Amino acid sequence: MKVNPDYQTKEALLALYNKPLLELVFEAASVHRQFHNPREVQMSSLLSIKTGGCPEDCGYCPQAARYHTDVNAHKLMSVESVIEQAKNAKSNGSSRLCMGAAWREVRDNKDFDNVVEMVQEVNNLGLEVCCTLGMLNEDQAQRLKKAGLFAYNHNLDSSPEFYGDIISTREYEDRLNTIENARKAGITVCSGGIIGMGEAVEDRIGLLMSYMRMETPPESIPINALVAVEGTPLEDQKPIEQWEMIRMVATTRVVFPESVVRLSAGRTQMSMEGQALCFLAGAGSIFAGDKLLTTPNPEFNEDKEMFDILGLIPKSAFQDAPQPISQPDEIIERKREASRLHEQALKEAREEAVKSGFEPRRVTKVS
Ligand code: SF4
Repeated sequence: MKVNPDYQTKEALLALYNKPLLELVFEAASVHRQFHNPREVQMSSLLSIKTGGCPEDCGYCPQAARYHTDVNAHKLMSVESVIEQAKNAKSNGSSRLCMGAAWREVRDNKDFDNVVEMVQEVNNLGLEVCCTLGMLNEDQAQRLKKAGLFAYNHNLDSSPEFYGDIISTREYEDRLNTIENARKAGITVCSGGIIGMGEAVEDRIGLLMSYMRMETPPESIPINALVAVEGTPLEDQKPIEQWEMIRMVATTRVVFPESVVRLSAGRTQMSMEGQALCFLAGAGSIFAGDKLLTTPNPEFNEDKEMFDILGLIPKSAFQDAPQPISQPDEIIERKREASRLHEQALKEAREEAVKSGFEPRRVTKVS
């Protein structure tokens, strides 16, 4: 049951969201137990592989180049550093690595070749690999799929009606197209939203309605609370009450029983008790590590303690779908072959020159 047939209209969803809190949590917990192991919570790591300097204008995001925040822009990480970070994440109990690049869209260039290689390498470490790289066309999605990408993240953020208040540099439709391209390539979809940006409850419901209208709703739905960052247009937004997060997590759980609901940004503003209610209400994943891209997140040890107190166990990788098999990438292989041939031609030319008695010119240094 991908979508709960009892909640197909906006009115029904609103009534669910506004139920007395503990009744809503009870209903969500009951649904959660039918489709998931309630003791298991996936620990995921989020790695910013390319930080800042983004040309988009998402009003909540400190990585947008146009806002004056204290984020320092960094170019794309090397494949080797990503492998090292992935190994660390795995040894700390994560079973999924989400790699985020602050790009408007994927471009077919060397950076993308490197991301493809990162996907191959991290998948071969036995981690579920998720990427969030901005807009993506069908061919790029196919390349990532072949490399072994497990999930593509592209959030709708809010309802179509409220979206324009937060972002003007790309349309809601663009986001739906990217999600569709990932779906067509056979990659699982991770897509969710942010609450606390000044939206109405109807917009939170509108976000869920957008997913209900999809032929297949996302397998993974992250629910974030805004972390207001100084320098962004939303810097003055008051933090939401944790009860609102609990309501949103619970409502999402009831409506999409099979999806993994991820308790994402904003956990530092919640108590352990508040998070416990989210797990009871069906949150099946958290992000581990002290940073979520560029915003703060609880320390690893705090989460370990929380898991011990609540009796939670980290969920292992590939329980919901088999591990993809990484296949060689034609573009990378072609470039490697061209570079190998180039090196070989140089070597042969040097050997030929030596054979014919050619003496390389010596340059005498004049001091
Ligand atoms: S959310 Fe993503 S697309 Fe929007 S400004 Fe930030 S990095 Fe760019």
